[in-house]
Amino acid sequence: MKAAILTAPMEFEIRDFPIPQPGVGQVVIRVKASGVCPSGLKLIKQPQRMPDEFWQIPGAPGHEVSAEVVEISKEVIKWSTGDRIVVTGGPTCGKCHYCLRGQFRFCENRVFTNMSHMGFSEYMACSEDELVAIPDGVSDEEASLAEPLACVVGSVEKCHIKAGDTVAVVGCGVMGQLHIQIMNALGARVIAIDIDENRRAFGVKSGALQHSPPGKAADELVKEISDGRGAETVIVAAGTPEAAESAFPLVGPGGTILFFAGIWPADMISIDPNFIHYQQINITGSVGGMVADFQRALAWISSNRINVQSLITGRFSLEEIIEAHKICEKGIGYKNLIIP
Ligand SMILES: [Zn+2]
Ligand SMILES: [Zn+2]
Repeated sequence: MKAAILTAPMEFEIRDFPIPQPGVGQVVIRVKASGVCPSGLKLIKQPQRMPDEFWQIPGAPGHEVSAEVVEISKEVIKWSTGDRIVVTGGPTCGKCHYCLRGQFRFCENRVFTNMSHMGFSEYMACSEDELVAIPDGVSDEEASLAEPLACVVGSVEKCHIKAGDTVAVVGCGVMGQLHIQIMNALGARVIAIDIDENRRAFGVKSGALQHSPPGKAADELVKEISDGRGAETVIVAAGTPEAAESAFPLVGPGGTILFFAGIWPADMISIDPNFIHYQQINITGSVGGMVADFQRALAWISSNRINVQSLITGRFSLEEIIEAHKICEKGIGYKNLIIP
């Protein structure tokens, strides 16, 4: 089988590997679509952030995978060959400090299959516990967006959205658009904020009421729509310190700022503690999705309430993987898929 191996920052080699055999409790899957992710891109540009074993893994990296089960080990009871699945971040252990506190996102024993096996390859071997079935009517391409959408489902859950809330989404790439779609479906009044006019306009197609470039215009628009209060929730889905700082004038009393995007290279922002104190602002973050978030993501797609198809703007072969990442780096289009 073929797999794309990262050999240096932004450099891949397509190499041949034996098709993996299923280990105990494992299935072998044939990858159908594997999304190019801006977070993955940051790792590909700074591979020194990756653990050493990463360099030995076929198909490094690629964590937004839809696939078909092609072989199972004899212990496997959940899956049969021919089943269509997505690869998740793996189940939690239920035994560690964080699981016992109900903070499953911090489970110390989670395997993160989709991060450890890597999907820019033709085949992968996965534990049977780390997969979620793709509903009928959801295509392989759409299902590969279950991973980014699962991250958004997890993020939105932390914001405790109520119908009628005002939500400002800063950054209208794929993740911003998915936030806009879900927030709109949940009954929020969403404002799309981005430096790029096309992305803002696409935000309105995704369900935003209005759009604005960042800065004073956005601050005023959000105030106007929320009767002068400010947003109940501000999602920062752009990975720059300027985007992070721009959230503070947008949020209203008792509101929540959720930092969804990582900032690389890491950087600092300045915050007025009095503002947080007197306005009682919640500042939080969200990263990744739980297995249940993948299931709910696929349910959103399956119910046609979330349209991921319109976000797929590029399809590339394994051999075109560098080109696909360069297009992602330039911010052209939205989601690029590798079809290995
Ligand atoms: Zn991703
Ligand atoms: Zn745990």
